[in-house]
Amino acid sequence: MVCYYHSERPAVGICRHCGRALCGDDAADVEDILACRGRHETQVRAIRLAERNASLQAERAAAGFVRNAVFYGLAGAAFAALGLYELRWLGVQAVFLIVIGAFLLYAAVANLLESRRFR
Ligand SMILES: [Zn+2]
Ligand SMILES: [Zn+2]
Repeated sequence: MVCYYHSERPAVGICRHCGRALCGDDAADVEDILACRGRHETQVRAIRLAERNASLQAERAAAGFVRNAVFYGLAGAAFAALGLYELRWLGVQAVFLIVIGAFLLYAAVANLLESRRFR
């Protein structure tokens, strides 16, 4: 592979914006990503910024799902425990509590699995 701009020089990398091979003189390092020096540095910086924002948003979304999972998990456990505890006295009503608890626990697991997708 040789430099796109100097066919006699070996390339050291590829511009992230245009995909052209670059020699040491043409390669600009934009936050660990290569760009055509003086040509595509701005574009590559924009790509980098967009990527960082996207990963930040994914992190926030994942944190939200974990928060939901914890909330549903605690609520589900409380309902289920109450239902099991009252089962002898309340009968059908206690079963209803247990069903709600199971549903909330299921929601907790679903949220936890959803949060994994962002990692
Ligand atoms: Zn380029
Ligand atoms: Zn070159």
